[in-house]
Amino acid sequence: MLASRGVRDIVAGIPLRSTMPFDIMKNNAPHTSISRRAFLNRLSATGTLALAPRAMLAGDGNGKTFGVALAGLGGYSTGQLGPALKLTKHCRLVGVVTGSEGKGRKWAQEHGFPETNIYHYDNMAAMADNPAIDIVYVATPNALHAKHAIAAAAAGKHVICEKPMATSVADCDAIIAACEKAGVRLGMGYRLHYDPHHEELRRLVRTREFGSFMKMDGGFAFKMTKPQWRAEKELAGGGPLMDVGVYVIQEAFMAAGTVPLVAVTARELPKERPEFFKDVEESLEWTMEFANGAKCQCFTSYNSNRDEFRAEAEGGWFQIGPAFGYRGQKASTSRGPVVVEPPASQQALQIDAFVRHVRDGAPNLVPGKMGKRDMVVIEAIYASAAKAGERIELKV
Ligand code: NAD
Repeated sequence: MLASRGVRDIVAGIPLRSTMPFDIMKNNAPHTSISRRAFLNRLSATGTLALAPRAMLAGDGNGKTFGVALAGLGGYSTGQLGPALKLTKHCRLVGVVTGSEGKGRKWAQEHGFPETNIYHYDNMAAMADNPAIDIVYVATPNALHAKHAIAAAAAGKHVICEKPMATSVADCDAIIAACEKAGVRLGMGYRLHYDPHHEELRRLVRTREFGSFMKMDGGFAFKMTKPQWRAEKELAGGGPLMDVGVYVIQEAFMAAGTVPLVAVTARELPKERPEFFKDVEESLEWTMEFANGAKCQCFTSYNSNRDEFRAEAEGGWFQIGPAFGYRGQKASTSRGPVVVEPPASQQALQIDAFVRHVRDGAPNLVPGKMGKRDMVVIEAIYASAAKAGERIELKV
């Protein structure tokens, strides 16, 4: 197996680059303290996403417990998804898809499922005969998402696909078409939609408490030290933009609300380690322009550390940093620190919410079309960077 260093390993210790005024964290502004349930209930009383927080509340449904099979037993599955599937209320891990039988047996033992539920990437079609598996969670390298998601859909299984959804818009379309054809549901592994700090940003947007966020700035970057597929175009599809830059794109959309994105401009920064980043970018900066004139300055890199986002409106601001990890978020607004109860596992909430979507008709906060939207933006960013920062118009 290829050695790799997952986000699991990089999110915990990313030092915050203090390029933005995190002054409010140091002053005596009153804390906004909200219990998780009160926070979710309050949100459920507002706006068009009124049902969304209910989808985040696990444990109040009476339906059957769904069976999930994990495809790809690498760092993210081992460190996050496996443990999350021990915390989910509406589903449990009942199978795996892996290239290593030994690994599969270890997972079967640990999670208590029969070895007959261990599949190889080449025999995913056989899952069609296994009613214990309702959902396949695809967590393989980016360029394989389409192949594995399409195989899962063809076997009649609902699909959760890790980010980035694929490595091209064409592959995103193929996944969406396969799920539609098979009549199965598709969701993304966008876990931050289930983190209350980020939900607070979305609440501010919905309620327009500060007005529209017009000036945004964010970055997600880490210093890659070990060779891995993430720096190989064939398996990764691109560099840090595909891997961690996509979080900044996501956050910009959260801050913009329903306002469409109309243009991007991008610039690849000169490589400091060209021998390491042979066929992918090392660092990239880009601007996202929205239809109301709002702009987001974005940054990603495999050669520096950054993990933060800030959004400013006429009536106030929101900022978060650390922003994009599995835990440890710190957010504040112009009113003071945002104090919310962090979930035990963003991923457990995300997976349970998908079951609630499939089983109970709850809204899907992170549908496949959102994954495709982000890939449209990623392709436009690469197109702009390839043309020395030419402004690329689009409407998503
Ligand atoms: P990893 O390298 O640790 O694991 C990848 C797995 O895929 C391994 O088990 C490997 O054996 C398997 N695999 C199957 N076919 C392969 C092939 N041809 N080449 C290489 N490996 C192959 O990677 P990871 O960190 O677990 O990432 C997996 C996916 O999850 C990626 O798409 C990544 O973007 C995503 N991810 C998401 C998050 C998140 O926070 N949502 C965090 C980390 C990773």
